[in-house]
Formats: sequence, C-alpha cells, structure tokens
Amino acid sequence: MAHDVSGWLPVFLATTSCRCLVVGAGRVATRKAKKLLEAGAHLALIAPDLSAPMQRLMQAYPAQIQYQPRCYTAEDMQNYQLIVAATDDAVLNTRIAQVAQRLNIPVNVANPGHLSTLLLPNTLRRGVVQIALCSGGASPLLMRRLSAYLDALIPQHYGDLAKLLQRFRESIKTHFPDIHKRRHFYEKIVDGVIAETVFSQRYDDACELVKQRIAKDIYATQGEVYLVGTGPGDPELLTLKALRVMQQADVVIYDRLIGPEILKFLRKDARRYYVGKARAHHSSTQATINQLLIEYAKAGHKVVRLKGGDPFVFGRGGEEMLALQAAGIVFHIVPGITAATGCAASTGIPLTHREVAKGCLFLTGHCADEASAFDWPALAQSGYTLVFYMGVFHLESLCQRLLRAGMAAETPVAIVQNGSLANQQLTFSTLAHLSRQPPMDHTHPGLVIIGQTVTLSPQYRAPGCTA
Ligand code: SAH
Repeated sequence: MAHDVSGWLPVFLATTSCRCLVVGAGRVATRKAKKLLEAGAHLALIAPDLSAPMQRLMQAYPAQIQYQPRCYTAEDMQNYQLIVAATDDAVLNTRIAQVAQRLNIPVNVANPGHLSTLLLPNTLRRGVVQIALCSGGASPLLMRRLSAYLDALIPQHYGDLAKLLQRFRESIKTHFPDIHKRRHFYEKIVDGVIAETVFSQRYDDACELVKQRIAKDIYATQGEVYLVGTGPGDPELLTLKALRVMQQADVVIYDRLIGPEILKFLRKDARRYYVGKARAHHSSTQATINQLLIEYAKAGHKVVRLKGGDPFVFGRGGEEMLALQAAGIVFHIVPGITAATGCAASTGIPLTHREVAKGCLFLTGHCADEASAFDWPALAQSGYTLVFYMGVFHLESLCQRLLRAGMAAETPVAIVQNGSLANQQLTFSTLAHLSRQPPMDHTHPGLVIIGQTVTLSPQYRAPGCTA
C-alpha cells in the first residue's frame, strides 16, 4: 500500500544505541532486519521458527541478533524503541502496530503497510555518505532502478572524499577565513585533481596535496567561463558534463530557451542572470552579455553561460568564445543536443536516410525573406533534408522562395514547436500549402524540417493535420 510521501520526513536514526524488535522471520522480515543490522543495530528477534534466509542472516551477524524462538505477546513491546512487524499474519501485525502506536514506539509494518509510522528506505552507501530512497511503498522496483542509477553515477570512493573534507575542515577554516576564498578552495578540491586522487584510492597522496595547497594559500583567483549546451528542453537530454558544471556554477547567465525544468539543476545559491533574447525584443545585446561573462570571470567566479541546444549551432557561442579569448579568460565549451537532432528524435523524422536523403543542412530562417540569403536553387535541388532554425516567423516566404527555386510543390514539411518538451507540437504540411498560409504562432521555438524523410515519421499524418 502506498503512503502519501508528503506526510513523511526522512531522518537518520542513531541505530547503534537503539533497541529494535523484529517480529517474524520470513523473507520480508529478513530483508527488513538486514537493513537494521547493516546500520549497526542490535535486534531482538521473536518468531516460533526461522526461514533459511533468516538463519543465514543470523550467521552473518551473530553478535547483533538475539533470537527468542516463541510467539509474540503484548508484553514484548515495552523495552524497545523501534519495532518491525513482519509476520505473515496481517491480523497479528495489526495488533503489534496498535500496541506500538499506543506506546508511541515507531513501528514498521510489512502488511498492512499503511499502519507503519516508520519506513525503512533503500539506502545507497559510500562510506560516511548515505542516500536514502523512498517511494512510500509505491514502487520498490523504481527505487531499485533509481538506486542502480545513482550507484553508477556516484564515484565508489565518494565517502573517502567526504572523510578528507572533514579531516581538513578546521585547518581550511583557519587558513581561509573569507567565505568566498574558502568556497573556491573547497571547489578546487571537489572538482579537481584532489578528488580524482581520492577516487583512484590514493587517499594519503590526496591529503598531501591538500596540505600543500593550504601551506601555499592557493585558492581560485581567476575565474573561468563554461559555454554549456543544455539541449532542446527536455532535461533528460542534458549531458552528464553539463549537469556537473551546472551544479558547480557561481554565476549563471541564461536566456529564454532555458526552461525551469533545466534551471532547477543549478546549484541552489548560484547567482542567476536572465539575458532575454526573444525575437524582436533583445533584452540584452550580445556585447552586454560578453561583458557580463568577462567581468564575472575576472572577479574569480565560475561562470556558466547556458545555451539552448548546442552553443555552436546558431547559438552565438562562437562570438562569446572569441570575446573571452580576446579578454584572456579561460573558457570551456560543453556541447549539447541541438534542436535538429532533438526534434528529429522526438518526432521520428530521420535527418538522413539511405536512398532518400544523402545529407542534411542546418540553416537559419532568420533572413529567409531575403533573396540573397542563400543560393535558393542549390538548396532546392540538393536532395538534402533542410532544417531551418528560426524559420517559423518567415515560413511563408521561405516556402515561396524554395518553390520558385524549383522545389516540388508537394515536398513534405514538418514544423516542430517546443520539440522534446511535454507541450511539443508537430504539424505536417507541404511547401505549396505553407506558401499560401497566414503566419503561424511563432512565440514558441519552432523548427522547420523540409524533405522526403518527413514522411518516414511514425507520427506522419496527411498534410494539414496536427499530430
Ligand atoms: N543553439 C540552439 C539554437 C538556437 S537558435 C540549438 O542548437 O538548438 C533558436 C532556434 O532554435 C529557435 O528559433 C528554433 O528554431 C530552434 N529551437 C530551439 N529549441 C527548440 C525546440 N525545443 N523545439 C524546436 N525548435 C527549437
């Protein structure tokens, strides 16, 4: 039975000094007892007989289990601070839960689970670091998945890094009384070579490095800038590197392509600057943005410039990079999934396809109303999939130009708005049809995909329909 998790607070219990009672010795009781034993608890176990798994558990923890081979009675409860009712008899479990609640003793009940006043979460351990996972019983499978996912993500020796930080905490505080310098010092440990040394199990070498740095008063003086691509919007499309850098940022500069689902991954106390940039109302000019990046980096900050998609695809990442380079600022580029590949995946439109499209062009539709913007006949005859960024605004003239340049009137076109997001909208049409249409709503980011591969989409519908 699932509990509404809003009524629960995860806390950590000092189990070594806690007297626990487990009633029942079957498979479920064994699993619950194991969690308590791993946390160092001492258990009294009451059950008329033992299952094979429980016998094995007792052999593994002989000093922590005191077994009483008999049935439970209400008097058993008095001396305990935590009770697990895990017999295969729901009526008995209910009685145990009622007595425990009357005595104000936290109780975990296997069945009926909703009588529990205490949940035993799945835990993931890295030495002193522990992560507790709980869905209130809604889905143990999901919790196991999540645990496996985190297990893969968190370095095995993360706990040693925590131990190292604890060891030097006082001396770092004394050497760097200034909170900013101290934070930079910590960040250099956590993000850099010292952490890597710990993770490769050379703990003593890592401690030496910390001592050297403290002695030389080295903390981060020069900031740096990361130009980070965040993909088309779905946060699952962030790269691991983007996520890591976002969680280390002091200052974050972002524009309207970056939604709240992405921003929530930023470090909580990072300073955030919105620099706008919707079509036709540029909140900040590119020069102002460049200047912001440079100034914050010069002030010693780790600056993260978030960009929709990829920074180097119509993202003006190149201009920002050159400005940083000219100012002598250290910078890093973190690539992202660009709108074209993101939208291709979420709509099932291949960008290239054997015998259908031998290539694909990423183009800007920003100036599609200008005759000189492209060699239009070359585009029309290329046989490539044409992907226009910023193309929805000038869609009508874009289609007219391609038609006049000789592209077939029935060439399929897909318009993908808010690609990869929950409110994605996909419209199928043709060049001829769109060349006569009134302008579409262009307030949402939209991509125009033109070419025969459009019809390969499993979501393809006859032109004019909205999928
Ligand atoms: N650097 C970005 C592109 C920035 S230009 C990238 O690599 O994707 C802004 C244009 O990108 C928008 O006008 C739109 O054409 C496209 N775009 C960005 N996100 C999009 C999304 N989620 N769905 C559809 N198009 C998107």
